[in-house]
This record gives sequence, structure tokens and C-alpha cells, in this order.
Amino acid sequence: MTADAHEEFTAQRQRMVARDVVSRGVRSQPVIDALKRVRRERYVPEHLREHAYTDAPLAIGDGQTISQPYIVAYMIEALALAPGARVLEIGTGSGYAAAVLAEIAAEVYTIERHPGLADSAAKRLAKDGHLNVHVRHGDGTLGWPEAAPFDAIVVAACGAEIPRALEQQLAVGGRLVMPVGEQAGEQELVRVTRIDEQEFRCERLCGVRFVPLIESEAAPREP
Ligand code: SAH
Repeated sequence: MTADAHEEFTAQRQRMVARDVVSRGVRSQPVIDALKRVRRERYVPEHLREHAYTDAPLAIGDGQTISQPYIVAYMIEALALAPGARVLEIGTGSGYAAAVLAEIAAEVYTIERHPGLADSAAKRLAKDGHLNVHVRHGDGTLGWPEAAPFDAIVVAACGAEIPRALEQQLAVGGRLVMPVGEQAGEQELVRVTRIDEQEFRCERLCGVRFVPLIESEAAPREP
């Protein structure tokens, strides 16, 4: 990329943050600063680079998408990350949201079920210098038990309900943000706060549209 193109993307990114993120009510300074730093053009396919800062999700291959910048900012703000937070993300996709999380949190664990996407996201994140991101290929609905508990969990795909394993891997006082609903119907972004060992508080945040969370093929089935 030429120095001019690099500067042009930087200018577009600053405008995008003001126009699509701050104007819609995102107030968290760490989130705003992280969005200003992460070069979204590096996380979209080459032929879509010129659209990197449009206010929309974009196709990244394998039928998946990189989320709209505003929704990434909104979901991460809803996690209310404290400095030093350890975060689990389900649905690495392009790695863009993981890169934004990595600018704010201490450690980011992220799981992607498509091997090709997991591999290219891991390479991109390493090349971008995000050494605090750990990428795993696998079924995110099972969480990452060896690295639990997490102060925050964010799920970037929509399921019918919140996977039990993820609730169990949330630290007391921690927050989980996930779209819940039907694939073709209504989807709501939900935030779950773990009050203590047994008790969870659930809040509905807003209506959203996400790709499906695919449950483990290894899950037991009725005969
Ligand atoms: N955070 C991504 C957006 C990802 S879209 C970004 O910033 O680009 C949602 C992703 O969730 C897709 O890549 C999809 O393959 C993945 N996914 C769906 N079900 C999953 C599961 N059970 N475990 C892990 N990843 C899953």
C-alpha cells in the first residue's frame, strides 16, 4: 500500500468513528480510541478494501461477515471492560473485533469454527502486532475451559439460547453479550451479568441481525 493510501484510510477511519459510532451514542473513550487505531482495511478482503469504512457488515468468505463497526463498538462498550480484563470472543471471523478488544483488554481468547477463517485471522492479528490474542479453531459454544474464568464474553453469532458452558465460564461480576433469537425472525442483543455462583441478571439491549451460531456437531443427538 502506498503512503497516500495509508493516510487516506486513516482519514476515513477518523471520519467513520465520528459519523457512525460517536454520533449514535457510544461514549466509552477506550472503545472510541481502539476503533480509531485498528485498521479495518486489513481485515476485509482485498477487493472490498475501498469499502472498509462504510457503515455496514461486509462479506469475508465462507458465507460469513465482518460486523459493522458501530455494532462492534456497541457490543464492546456493553462489556464495560476494566483494565486487565480477560475476554473470550466466539466467532473470530476476520479478527477485526478481536483486534479492537486487544487494544482494550489484557488477554483475548477467540474461537472460530471455520478453519480457513481462524487461520487467516490468526496470521493477520499476529502481523498487526496483537500478541495478546489467542485464536483457536473449534466450537465456541463449549467455551475455552482451560483459560476460564473470563471477565467478559462476547458472541458474534446468533443462537436460540445462551450456551450453558459460556455462562459457567463467566467470572462473578463478569458480563456476557450475545444476540439471541431465531435466524429468520427477531434477534435481540442480550447482556447477562453474573451476580454470584448461582445468579445471573439478564438485560435486553436492542434488536440486531447476525449470522447463526452453529452448535457442536459432536453434541449428543436423540436417536
Ligand atoms: N467478530 C467477527 C465477526 C464474525 S461473524 C469480525 O469482527 O469479523 C460470526 C462468526 O461466528 C463467523 O465467522 C462464524 O463462522 C462463527 N461461528 C458460528 N458459530 C460458531 C461456533 N459455534 N463456534 C465458533 N465460531 C462460530
